[in-house]
Amino acid sequence: MVEVATALEVVLSRAAPLSAELVPLLEASARVLAESAASDIDSPPHIKVLMDGYAVRSADATVPVTLRVIEEVAAGRVPRLAIGPGEATRVMTGAPIPEGADAVIPHEETEVAGNNVRLRRAVRAGESILARGREMRTGEVVVPAGTPLTPQAVGLLAAIGQSEVRVRRVPRVAILATGDELVEAVGRPGAGQIRNSNGPMLCALAAGAGAGIEYLGIGRDNRDCLRRLIGRGLELADVLILAGGVSAGKFDLVPDVLAEVGVTAHFHRVRLKPGKPLLFGSRGERLVFGLPGNPVSSFVGFELFVRPALRRIMGHAIPGPVFVPVPLAGPFAAMNDRPTYGPARLETSPKLQVRPAEWFGSADLRGLLTADALIGLPAGAAQWQAGDPLPTLLLNS
Ligand code: AMP
Ligand code: MG
Repeated sequence: MVEVATALEVVLSRAAPLSAELVPLLEASARVLAESAASDIDSPPHIKVLMDGYAVRSADATVPVTLRVIEEVAAGRVPRLAIGPGEATRVMTGAPIPEGADAVIPHEETEVAGNNVRLRRAVRAGESILARGREMRTGEVVVPAGTPLTPQAVGLLAAIGQSEVRVRRVPRVAILATGDELVEAVGRPGAGQIRNSNGPMLCALAAGAGAGIEYLGIGRDNRDCLRRLIGRGLELADVLILAGGVSAGKFDLVPDVLAEVGVTAHFHRVRLKPGKPLLFGSRGERLVFGLPGNPVSSFVGFELFVRPALRRIMGHAIPGPVFVPVPLAGPFAAMNDRPTYGPARLETSPKLQVRPAEWFGSADLRGLLTADALIGLPAGAAQWQAGDPLPTLLLNS
């Protein structure tokens, strides 16, 4: 049985970044940049005005003072006149500053009378202007390789002239739920049957992580069926996720069938709760996760191992999972035989704290529904007071 940290290292060591492709910026959202992108311009390209107001010489701008307005510069225009002593130019946010001026006073702090403007206060040199190239310089790397293309990143790439970007290709993920007892959501479970939660949940998790999905449906607990579907998954996908059939029961055939089709298991069983029977293997570049069938176990296994693997092959600089210390909302005691990852809720009022959620173990998907975090608890008996920090992994963010 491996420790969680070791298991994660093994997974990441097998997860090689996928090939890169050039895509239009408008289609690049949620992908990950494969090559650092540099700016093709200085920004701002001129000394830039930061407020609607009047460009002035700070030397003139002592109060009380009235300046003569010599020009108005609209958006997209450049000033034609240099400012001399006693003069000002009406400027808009984003405009270049006129020659001679070294500061801008906001419109709200002035009074206009005909061609003159009276300043209500003194102005310091450099006020409300931004030096040329202050945001970025030509040739400077602005968006490094490994950056996920959030809307902000997409906007910035546009600003630096990148209409096409090199990103990692979308990983293909195949998902196979296994179990003779499973029926799909459209069916009604008969005696001894349960609905297949894992299939749709894992599809949603992988799609949310940015993967393209091949849903293989339900594999029955017999070698022929599993061999056929696992074979398909390995043909179609970069990552094959199985749920169920990896424990020690008589019908837990997944580890055997994986070995038969040439998948090498790198670990099977992790010192972890829920989700101990988790299996990770590979065939060539293909990664295979055998997650335990209980839905919360599958969920935790996905967050701890599958998501980081997907992030790594998609080229993310930070594969995660990133646990942050968050103070506990109240006293809490736990007794676990293995390191445990439990659902929890974040509270923000009166301050940020985390409160363990009530849940009934690894089949309790309902207990997970309102959770927005997983907390990491150590093996053994432990007690915490309100305010003690607990390692917390944010979900759905
Ligand atoms: P297994 O890992 O196959 O031993 O399954 C462990 C438990 O999870 C059993 O109670 C299964 O019925 C349940 N289970 C397995 N697969 C699923 C699934 N796809 N959806 C919901 N529950 C499942
Ligand atoms: Mg099973």
